[in-house]
Amino acid sequence: MISAPGLALALLWSGLATAQSPLATQLEEAPEQPTALAGTAPAPVPEVTPEAGLGAPAPEAAVQLEEREPPSTTGLPRAPNLPLDEPVETEPPPTAPNPAPVVLQELVLLGREVPPKTSTRLAWAPTQSFEGIYVDTPVLVVNGVEPGPTLCLTAAMHGDELNGIETVRRVLYNLDAGKLKGAVIGVPIVNLQGFHAGSRYLTDRRDLNRYFPGDPEGSSASRLAYSFFHEVIAHCDALVDLHTGSFYRTNLPQLRGDLRNPRVVQLTKGFGSTVVVHSEGTAGTLRRAAVEVGIPAVTLEAGGPSVLDEDAVSHSVKAIRTLLNHLGMTIRFSLWGDPEPVYYNSVWERAPVGGIVFSRVSLGQTVKRGDVLGTVTNPITNVRTRIISNHNGRIIGMALNQVVQPGFATHHIGITPPKGQISPPEDVVATDPGSARQLADVTTDAPAGSGEEAAESEQPDASAVEENHTPAVENSADEVGDEDLEED
Ligand SMILES: [Zn+2]
Repeated sequence: MISAPGLALALLWSGLATAQSPLATQLEEAPEQPTALAGTAPAPVPEVTPEAGLGAPAPEAAVQLEEREPPSTTGLPRAPNLPLDEPVETEPPPTAPNPAPVVLQELVLLGREVPPKTSTRLAWAPTQSFEGIYVDTPVLVVNGVEPGPTLCLTAAMHGDELNGIETVRRVLYNLDAGKLKGAVIGVPIVNLQGFHAGSRYLTDRRDLNRYFPGDPEGSSASRLAYSFFHEVIAHCDALVDLHTGSFYRTNLPQLRGDLRNPRVVQLTKGFGSTVVVHSEGTAGTLRRAAVEVGIPAVTLEAGGPSVLDEDAVSHSVKAIRTLLNHLGMTIRFSLWGDPEPVYYNSVWERAPVGGIVFSRVSLGQTVKRGDVLGTVTNPITNVRTRIISNHNGRIIGMALNQVVQPGFATHHIGITPPKGQISPPEDVVATDPGSARQLADVTTDAPAGSGEEAAESEQPDASAVEENHTPAVENSADEVGDEDLEED
């Protein structure tokens, strides 16, 4: 059996082998804890708390031990040294081991054991033969000291979506493994091929996020998806896949999830004041594939491609830290403003003609039917055409000013649900009575009190949302199946 210090040292080497990092620095502290636990197991140690065991007093005691005693010949653990120049205080009965019983949670991932209280960096390489053409993908892992869920964060599934990369970096490199319950696995750049090329796609122009859960005998994209899904995603208890708008569009920070799934709804509740948009998820997306095997998953969309948007990144980081707190993995509170709404319906308005788009609205703005969202100007004929909103709602995504073809989707509107028409979310998740109560306050437009009634009735109507869909849902991005509107 490999000793804990030896294992940690091996991991340290592996971390240093790829590159220096703050994670590697933290890793050096890791061996101390298993050592303290092993050395103090047979007898109580005076004045040693879990924290103190790693702190300043320990080296002094160790030095005295070496000076006064000859080398061990039995191989048995030495009894701890007692400070004889101080009054010996009576210890409380050792009803519990000292230090306090820490349930160690070993994490095995990508062929490595990640000990508790360890931050490290692993590498995912497809199991299929991609030698020479596929670079190992870094996988950041922070394994906490106590049991808890494993939360996975994936970014740059589309290689030109940069905000998620920075979000994963900020979250993972600021996690304290010594205070974390459970584990966080972060993959900053899933699609390294596309990232290096500044492209959304793999090098063969395939969209990796249409091939999950993958096929070991399929196309290159399908094999990559299969490997990633089975070697990394399979370890996740929950998944947040980070994306941005696509094709020169930008998104208000928003969660996308299948709100018919109670565990997904529950997950969306953990992100603070973040807009939630119902979306079943296109077939082949990582999010949908994960949900289909029982891993609650959402997409967190923020900003647009090819640029780093500080506001989008800041919101995403704060939202994920709030989620960690919500899942009981960290103790860190964030202050949020008013809760953001849940949009069960959304619709894209399109450029009626081709030309140069200039928007007259901004992300997050509330619009009414008949409002002018922007204009499309033909640079040759100098004819200007207005883009009119056909809906009451809020701008949750929009095209950046650019040249477009006729029919280009320019403004994504979250539809304001008519009062009393949209079912409270507990109806959506009704198949799970245990979670209905917790989900009662998802919506902001449900009449007060209706949530509690529905939660207590335990006779949820799973089809309510379908029945209450407004006609607008027929035009939503998911229904249309418009490839370029499926950001995730
Ligand atoms: Zn994307």
